[in-house]
Amino acid sequence: MSDQATSSVSFNEPVLGEAEAKAVREVLGSGTIRGDGPVSQHVEEEMEEWLGIDHVFLTTSCTHALEMAMVVLDIGPGDEVIMPSFNFVSSANAVVLRGATPVFAEIEPDTLNLDVEAVREKITPRTKAIVPVHYAGVSCDMEALLALADEHDLYVVEDAAQGVDAYYDGRALGTMGDIGCYSFHETKNITCGEGGAFLTSDEQLARKAELVREKGTNRSAFIRGEVDKYTWVSEGSSYILSDILASVLRAQLRRRSTIKRKRKAVWTAYHEALSPLAEEGIVTLPTIPARCTSNYHIFFFRVDTPRQRNHLLEVLKNHGIDASFHYIPLHSSPYGQEYLRDEDTLPRTKHCSETLIRLPLHPGLAEDAASLADRVAHLLVEERA
Ligand SMILES: *Cc1c(COP(=O)(O)O)cnc(C)c1O
Repeated sequence: MSDQATSSVSFNEPVLGEAEAKAVREVLGSGTIRGDGPVSQHVEEEMEEWLGIDHVFLTTSCTHALEMAMVVLDIGPGDEVIMPSFNFVSSANAVVLRGATPVFAEIEPDTLNLDVEAVREKITPRTKAIVPVHYAGVSCDMEALLALADEHDLYVVEDAAQGVDAYYDGRALGTMGDIGCYSFHETKNITCGEGGAFLTSDEQLARKAELVREKGTNRSAFIRGEVDKYTWVSEGSSYILSDILASVLRAQLRRRSTIKRKRKAVWTAYHEALSPLAEEGIVTLPTIPARCTSNYHIFFFRVDTPRQRNHLLEVLKNHGIDASFHYIPLHSSPYGQEYLRDEDTLPRTKHCSETLIRLPLHPGLAEDAASLADRVAHLLVEERA
């Protein structure tokens, strides 16, 4: 640890307080703590209104929402689902668990989102769906992607785990495809610890989703009083969020504009402090396309070589700044290599992932954002010299 190190800066910290504690006490006092209870239904209705979507189903995670999506769309053996390799594991697992095959396409180097032309090249007669991942809370090029999906009659499942409270042409991420999936994991902008949501405006998909989420039973219809007993009517599992967690989520959703404003302050401070370095070609900064409204989930930048990246991560860490990186591209992961054997080496994905640095970003950093950003910029310049 260098003697220059001042206080250490953590990578992520959720915003939790009395509102969440009060919400939990209330639901415990109410005696109804199962899933799909009054609090969950309230949150689902609030989200439907906010997002302008017909159906929101709270789930135990985004991973589970993605699994539900693959069941609801009847993805199975022989089917292919196109997604980025620069990606978290969940969408690929959801496909693999159905006996289907994830197919990986290249990303754009500025947003690290799917390159729509690269997706087009991966379409075969077996392709059933595309899973765009809205990286860092910035939308994929949804107009082009939806047009491509339409042209080839493919489903679109948006992995909007990082996209809660972010928009494209004013439309909420997760509401543009056939299905959208949200995450409320502790590391995401809005959190209840572990949780997620499945979004759709398609009535048929919604009806199926309701059964799949509730162990393949029509228990939800029973709770609504539409049937007088409930029974096994579909394949399914248990993807229901407890009302205890839904109450935390409700309190968090009320904080969302403050959370976004503070995250934006930190993101903007980094962007401004690093802009002179970008002009000198020392770093490459992320872009937010004009049609996108970010939720500032991640601040990342890239350098030229993997060696520089690893060195800078080390330097930042030694100065108490908990910088990080991700993802090991899925096609080059041990599981991907052993079981998927994709011929495509996806050089752009590989290069971007090996040269990427993520900086700490959470609302707790907003107050001192400018000085933190200056410290980072200073270290980068010093290392360059
Ligand atoms: C966080 C994340 C997930 C998983 O979310 P969980 O709620 O933890 O299951 C899936 N996809 C992406 C892109 C993510 O960032």
